[in-house]
Amino acid sequence: MIYWALPWNAGGQVAGVVRSAISGEEHNRVLRALQLDLLWGMLIAGGAGGVASFIAARRISRPVEQISAAAARVARGDLSVSMPGTYVAELASIGESVQEMAAQLEERGHTIGRQGYEQEAVLASMVEGVLAVDSEERVISLNRAAARLVGANAGDVAGRSLQEVIRNADLRRFASRALESSESIEDDLVLRGDSERVLQARGTALRDARGRSIGAVIVLHDMTHFRHLENIRRDFVANVSHELKTPIASIKGFVETLLEGGIENSHDAERFLRIVAKQADRLNSIIEDLLSLSKIEQSEEARNLSLEPGGIKELIDAAVYDCQSKAADRNISIRVECETGLMGNINARLLEQAVVNLLDNAIQYSEPGASVDISGSRSNGEVTVSVTDRGCGVAPDHLPRLFERFYRVDKARSRKLGGTGLGLSIVKHIVQAHGGRISVQSVLGKGSTFTIHLPA
Ligand code: ADP
Repeated sequence: MIYWALPWNAGGQVAGVVRSAISGEEHNRVLRALQLDLLWGMLIAGGAGGVASFIAARRISRPVEQISAAAARVARGDLSVSMPGTYVAELASIGESVQEMAAQLEERGHTIGRQGYEQEAVLASMVEGVLAVDSEERVISLNRAAARLVGANAGDVAGRSLQEVIRNADLRRFASRALESSESIEDDLVLRGDSERVLQARGTALRDARGRSIGAVIVLHDMTHFRHLENIRRDFVANVSHELKTPIASIKGFVETLLEGGIENSHDAERFLRIVAKQADRLNSIIEDLLSLSKIEQSEEARNLSLEPGGIKELIDAAVYDCQSKAADRNISIRVECETGLMGNINARLLEQAVVNLLDNAIQYSEPGASVDISGSRSNGEVTVSVTDRGCGVAPDHLPRLFERFYRVDKARSRKLGGTGLGLSIVKHIVQAHGGRISVQSVLGKGSTFTIHLPA
């Protein structure tokens, strides 16, 4: 038996005793039943807890997996992600952060892309060539102008070595010097391709925050045209001096001969004076040509040549009239072909001078007895005046330079015929002052056609 007793107090004194008893066998039966109930209770509670945990874990792990997959897609560059909805506040906040990060990356990507396009557009529209190389002398970028200058294709050079892209050794050496130099360097380079080009190169090393060279930028200015103009100017001064010196030397020589007694012999004296007069005329015509050239150039630059509607036929007739006696001397016939009423916006005095110069040359460079044609017409929005001869013609290699001052194919022949070498450049500038152009077609030994094109 198992006994259990409990005193019962009343008024601070034990008033009685509560007593209970149970047999040992009965106690053990109740205890076993209780243990079994407890075990069942624990099993059921454990199972329910497990199921609840599983459900809760699923609810957390699925969005975590989805957020992690979305973050991986963002990392791979796919920025069009959408985050899963979740009840877990912390996960929702992580998801929002990843989405925000993707949006910012996208925005930055757009900005960088736009900046790239802008830079590309700026570089592409530059007249100067720009070449950027890294420290290993590999091309980072080459703009269109640089590609044209060095004869490369701008599209497929990035990452290729300078050696492959640029054939000119001087330019490669310049790039190496720019990479090593602590300051900007400058040099003049000559590129020899189809035509020779003179470049002014400026190279600057690119440095990182620690001052280490990470590459170089080379800017190339095409100076060919300026050098050409410089040469023309230099040649012009030399030519003018030379042209003036020849008649002056001749005048001086004959005057000295006369002073030293040549004047005594009246026959020689007259001959010498005639030569002196001829050389003085020559000096005069050179100076007159130079002055009219400079005047025409001034009004060409200022664009203030006064133009009026005028008849082309009348102009051609007047020029033919001026050349008639010279043509007759050489037994040359001039045929005119021009519709009456053909009008142009012209400065009649100057344009007549241009046509006279062309006719003059056509007569001079034709064999006696030949014929010269002059025609006026309107075609393709232009009024044209063409002078055609059947004379000596001009070889193709002389044609591009024919309109330069003092340029003559055969110097001695031109001088003998009294030419100054300025006639065609005067024609060119008169026509340009009219807003037009001059063209020439010529076959050596067969003849030439010079055409004045004026805007209709
Ligand atoms: P020039 O006073 O020597 O005639 P131009 O400027 O008028 O000077 O002409 C320049 C050169 O062009 C001439 O020296 C000549 O060699 C050549 N030329 C001009 N016109 C003709 C032509 N009609 N036929 C052949 N050669 C010409």
